[in-house]
Amino acid sequence: MRPRHHDSPDPAPNAMIRSLHRMLHDVTDRNGSRRRTDVDDPRLLDDLPPLLMTTTAWLLMMTDLTSRPVEAGGVLIGPSGHDAVTHYVPDLTGHATGASFTFDHERINQTLRQYVPLGLDAKGIAHSHPSGCLTPSLGDLDFVFDCFATVSADDVERFYLPIVVGRRLFPYTVFRGNPLVTVCSQLILF
Ligand SMILES: [Zn+2]
Repeated sequence: MRPRHHDSPDPAPNAMIRSLHRMLHDVTDRNGSRRRTDVDDPRLLDDLPPLLMTTTAWLLMMTDLTSRPVEAGGVLIGPSGHDAVTHYVPDLTGHATGASFTFDHERINQTLRQYVPLGLDAKGIAHSHPSGCLTPSLGDLDFVFDCFATVSADDVERFYLPIVVGRRLFPYTVFRGNPLVTVCSQLILF
């Protein structure tokens, strides 16, 4: 991803998740009427969009991103026409500094070409952040925006953008219809 700066500390995760709940639930429901629910209700997690991933891909991703110095990254791959991630491929030739990561686009595209005949394509990018940077940067969102622009809406409607900080995973998704907003997701391993 492009160079960027993480110069403002993120809010505490619990506060962030509560405000996300508030944002998600102070909205118009399916019947068209406004509703507001208790933001502390744990059942609200069920409403978060799923980030589907095999345990093998998750283990590889977490092992890689917690063992290499920040910022490191890799590509999430899964079956074409499905949102599941079944493979994680680390980007070992991207340009990393302590505060940014620039993917090696050429190598990623070479890697993806090997997976196409197998019926697999990219589902998103995982990368690590320095301590305290819990959300995607503007540079990250810019990268996702570019990815949406280069593929058809029929092929890619959502982009997984999980971030690892320390040993914690923050599972984000960006949707094509609202590419400037990162949506906290529910990690579902299978
Ligand atoms: Zn980032």
